[in-house]
Order: sequence, then structure tokens, then C-alpha cells
Amino acid sequence: MVTVVSAVALVGLEASRVVVEATHSQGLPGTRIVGLPDTAVREAAERIRSAARRSGLGWPEDRVTLNLAPAALRKSGAGFDLPMALAVLGATGKVPREALVDLWAVGELGLDGTVRPVPGILPMAAAARDAGARLLLVASAAAVEASLVEGLEVVPVDSLAEAAAVLQGEQAARDVVATPAVVTSGAPDLADVRGQTVARRAVEVAAAGGHHLLLSGPPGCGKSMLAERMAGVLPPLSMDEALEVAAIHSVAGVRAPDAPLSLVPPFRSPHHTTSAPGLVGGGSGVGRPGELSLAHRGILFLDELLEMPRWVLDALRQPLESGHVRIVRTQAAVAFPADVLLVAATNPCPCGNLGSTSQACRCAPDRVERYRSRLSGPLSDRIDLQVELRPVDPDRLVGPGDGEPTAAVAARVAAARAVAAERWGPGTLNRSVPPAAVRATCHAGAVRALASAVEQLALSARSFDRALRVARTIADLAGDATVSTDHVDEAVAYRLATRLAAT
Ligand SMILES: [Zn+2]
Repeated sequence: MVTVVSAVALVGLEASRVVVEATHSQGLPGTRIVGLPDTAVREAAERIRSAARRSGLGWPEDRVTLNLAPAALRKSGAGFDLPMALAVLGATGKVPREALVDLWAVGELGLDGTVRPVPGILPMAAAARDAGARLLLVASAAAVEASLVEGLEVVPVDSLAEAAAVLQGEQAARDVVATPAVVTSGAPDLADVRGQTVARRAVEVAAAGGHHLLLSGPPGCGKSMLAERMAGVLPPLSMDEALEVAAIHSVAGVRAPDAPLSLVPPFRSPHHTTSAPGLVGGGSGVGRPGELSLAHRGILFLDELLEMPRWVLDALRQPLESGHVRIVRTQAAVAFPADVLLVAATNPCPCGNLGSTSQACRCAPDRVERYRSRLSGPLSDRIDLQVELRPVDPDRLVGPGDGEPTAAVAARVAAARAVAAERWGPGTLNRSVPPAAVRATCHAGAVRALASAVEQLALSARSFDRALRVARTIADLAGDATVSTDHVDEAVAYRLATRLAAT
């Protein structure tokens, strides 16, 4: 007699059903696991036998065979422990077979029978719900995350003994205590930033249109302060977007499984020494999401951009264009979403003092040129807004902040995004609208003015399209239906750093 429990295999963000079948038959004692298991799954034999025995549930003295189907799908990780143990307990009659009908389970077992959470519970629970699961058994620590998926009964268990007791009907299933979603970022307020009128305006335009932003300036002028405050300016995520972001963080193992759902757009600021898999994604197996995907639907802040290795700058280009990262491995190719708003910061030169009125720059001109040329044409072309920050006037450094608060800026950003969404469709930002569509909303004189500015500054064709989109956002912030020459002038001013970098 074969007993069946459903489990979940995770490849990237894709969760699919795995049917765990257990039998025991006469033969030499031993446990065999078949169906393309990886090392961790093969090693489960030891864990589940020890867990069952130490939980007082016993283990067959004869031959146990566990089959994971479909066989073509690679099974990795320790999340198959609990469903495999339950399937065997069904085969030995320790758990009634009818209790296993449409039962799904995910969890790692300790040798003493403790059930532990595994990464990726959220997409796994969604797959269980979509496949019509009756019950999903998970570790208590993962129950809050699993219960974010609506329409699924989640049963938290601390041990294999508790799982068996619940399925035997000897113990009532515990309720999952849901926590309300988090809606405010807790990010510091823009009111703290002194001066920097131009950069503050660029932050607002970037947030309104989803445009990538480069802040260049000497140390201490407030680049990081501005970037950190930008998350509070973005509108909150919808429920679906928040679940998508949480799923990515869950698979990457960076999300506490008992954390509430957050509607706050993510803000990630990896160090400039972050490894390739850390930034782009990858690592062992089919790989985990990197910082680019952890910042999906939020902000990726790269401080000291020009200190980053060349490959990092090159690796950014494709995801900034397509909104996803593709990781190719021998076993499989996976794609992770990476629709980010890039905010980058850099010193104007290697010593940082170029342009400073109080400190002298010690860099040779050719060194400055080499440094700036690392912001290669193709990457620079993708950064719509580039602003130079000057050091803050020392007189303004004392006393309370004199800036406009985050809430006021966020309200204008939300209004401009609403106008764009009405024009282009829900969720569409000016950043990603085809150039011809944007041009159709521009005054002919404005397009001519932009064309001549692009020619004068020797900017690329891509820069033309990007500046036009920025001008569209500036017009939206002003509540103007048509893009005028004034809007174009401001947009072109944000491209000046490109010219500086190129010369
Ligand atoms: Zn310098």
C-alpha cells in the first residue's frame, strides 16, 4: 500500500507540487529515496528515521522506499523531510490515511523531531493553495508567512510528534496569529536634509517617473542622506506587489518568516565590495536572488558607484533595461524580477574634493578622467537624472533641518504617478513608455529644443528619449498635459553630468 503526501519543489521563484509516495516491504532494513533528490534530500533518510523514533512514532524494521514525483524535477533542500516522514507514518498506520488526503507539508526535521522552517515558504504556500491543498503543515516559525496566502488552511507544528497528534485528531490544530501589514517605512524624513535644492528636486522627479538617478558630489554633502530618504517618497506597494517582494525575500532567506507583510518599497544598499552572486544573484544550485532582485519594486542604492568593479557596472545594464535578472546554470535557467529604481552616488574624483570650495583636489587630471570614464556611455545612458551636489554652506549645518518634509514630496509624487497611470495605464511609469508615445504629448517646439540641446551636448539617441521621458514627468508634476520647452530645459539640465563624464 502506497501513501501519498504533497510537498513543494522550488526552482528560483517557481514552486511546483511534488508527490511523495511511501511504501514499506519485506527486505533488508533500509530507507531509499528515489526521484532526482539532491544530497540534502538523500541525507533526509537519517533525519526522518531518527526524528520518528525519538518522537515515539517508531520506524519500519523492513525496507522503506520513498519516491518523489515527477522524477524529472530536481528536488533540493531539507523541506521534504516533514512530508516524507508523514508519508512513512501513513504507510505504517501511525497516522490515518484519510488524514493525508490533499495534505501538503513543508519543513526540515531535526534528529529529535523538531520541525524547522525553510526559505521560500511564501511561494510554496501559494503553489499549495493554487493546487487545491486542504491543509498545509509548516514549522510554527513559518506559519505567519504561509498565512499571508489567502484561501489556504495553514497548520503550525513545532515537532513531528505534534504533526502526528494533529493528524490523529488527538490534538487540535493551533491557530495562526496574523499580524497586520506594515505601511510606513520608518525611513528618516527629508526635512532633515539641509540645502541641496537641485538634488531634492531631482529626487522628486526620479520618484515620480521611476527614473534612475546619479548623485555626484564631495563626501559629506548629503548624497546618502537623500538616497535613504527616497524610500519614504515612493507610494506604498499594492497587496500583490508586496506579496511578490516578500516571496523574493523569502526565497533569498533574508526575510524573517514571522515578519508582517510590508507595503513599503524595499530599499537595498549593498556595499561596493559585494560579490557577483550577492549583487546579481546566483550562488550554488539554481541560485538565489541578489540585491538587484531584493530591491525589486523599490530602490537599489549604490554608493561609491565608481569604486565598483567594471563587471558590476556592466552587469547592471541589462537588468536596468529589462527589469529582470536571468541566471543560467547547468541544471536550469531561472529569472528573478529586478524592476528597480537605481540611485547611485559617486565622488566627483578619486579624492572627492573636485569642485569643493574649501578642500583642494589632489587628483591629476588624467586620473579624474579615467575615474569618470568608468561611468561608461551605455550605463550613463540608462541613468536619466544626473546631478552634481555642492558642499553644504557651513552656516546651514547648525540648527534644525530646513527642508520640506517627506509627506509633502510624497503627495506630489503620488499625484504625478496617478496622472501618468491614467494616461498610460495602471502601474506604468514614464520611465518605461515608448518614445513615440511620449513625443505625442509634447509641444513641437519642446521636441525641437530637445533635439538641438542633444546635438549641442553630443548626447546619444538614447539620451534624447530618456530626457523626453524626464520632461514628461516634470510636466506631470506641474499638472501640465503638454510638455513645454521649460520642462525640456529642466530635463536637459539633469543630463549635464553625462557631458562632464564624457569629456
Ligand atoms: Zn580629487
